[in-house]
Amino acid sequence: MFKINENYLKLPGSYLFSTIAKKVNEYSQAHPEKKIIRLGIGDVTQPLAPAIIESLHTAVDEMGSAESFRGYAPDLGYEFLRNAIADNDYKARGCDIAADEIFVSDGAKCDSGNIQEIFAADNRIAVCDPVYPVYVDTNVMAGRTGTYDGKLETWSDVIYMPCLAENDFAPELPKETPDIIYLCFPNNPTGSTITRAQLQEWVDYANRVGAVIIYDAAYEAYISEADVPHTIYECEGARACAIELRSFSKNAGFTGVRLGAAVVPKDLKCGDVTLHSLWARRHGTKYNGAPYIVQRAGEAVYSQAGKAQLKEQIAYYMNNAKYILNGLKEAGYTVSGGVNAPYIWLKAPEGMTSWEFFDYLLENAGVVGTPGSGFGPSGETYFRLTAFGSYENTVAAVDRIKAL
Ligand SMILES: *Cc1c(COP(=O)(O)O)cnc(C)c1O
Repeated sequence: MFKINENYLKLPGSYLFSTIAKKVNEYSQAHPEKKIIRLGIGDVTQPLAPAIIESLHTAVDEMGSAESFRGYAPDLGYEFLRNAIADNDYKARGCDIAADEIFVSDGAKCDSGNIQEIFAADNRIAVCDPVYPVYVDTNVMAGRTGTYDGKLETWSDVIYMPCLAENDFAPELPKETPDIIYLCFPNNPTGSTITRAQLQEWVDYANRVGAVIIYDAAYEAYISEADVPHTIYECEGARACAIELRSFSKNAGFTGVRLGAAVVPKDLKCGDVTLHSLWARRHGTKYNGAPYIVQRAGEAVYSQAGKAQLKEQIAYYMNNAKYILNGLKEAGYTVSGGVNAPYIWLKAPEGMTSWEFFDYLLENAGVVGTPGSGFGPSGETYFRLTAFGSYENTVAAVDRIKAL
């Protein structure tokens, strides 16, 4: 008789987005005349840039002719894309990352979920609170997190690093020593970030205690301030302690196209064993690569035309972010984020929980956001709005909130 992986049964139900959908449905059935505006989405809405579409078309045509047809891609991904990433994201920033340290993938969610496989089951993980839930849930599935306390909403073997207004939504070095540290800056859901000097402290700490940092750089393209690092490899010593995950989803609208990359420097070792060799083995055994067509689309992200078009796309979303940020400030809310990230993190009015504020906004303004408590216990009383909507909807939503 087969047995299941019982770790899956430990996972508490993820009710966040289903509860939101249910509440929104109920509201629109009761008030069919009211137009609801959704600023809760974590998905992009602008179409793919022309340079990317052109590249996709060309690659599709190549697949239709025997001379240029491509089958299985090389294990680590096509060299044209790995070179483009190494040159533009690393060498151009003075970071020493070689093309053969880059593993092309189908996205940062998959990479952040899969990467834990190459570590021992008794490693301890540290995460920010609130957090992108994938980091924790995939470690639960692997049996690495101990037991769940339903009341505190925490796992016994996970080290939580609260990110609150008191610490500018930046984690502090943990008191207990972790083996694996998950960091994501600019951050989802808080929209906060840390300076290069602050990130350097994390790199120094990881090297000192022998921990590895898994650095999720999915929102790198939204950085506008000069002292915010675009990659962890801007920090000295990061080659010996950090894996970086990159995504084409938020900078180029690839959420439905699917493309990402993991950087595993060859200096990152446990004894004599490089993590690069383990990830290469895992990639070769379990993955057959992102489609050729999609990797060509990824290459176009780094073309001159692609860069210019995507700069405009990011500016469009960040203009929304600015409108939300300023509008909410004018309305008297305590807000943060929205400067180096497409997320605005606000405090619910005094005395309201995240879900109470969700109901209040839906019922009185017809605006949908995401309750902060859905991202972890320290997210309670906070609320996330995103800049991924259209400008018209964003303006209408903010004006409705201001009129409350
Ligand atoms: C959206 C997002 C990603 C991107 O995941 P993909 O699989 O590349 O689409 C990764 N990390 C965080 C924190 C995100 O919010």
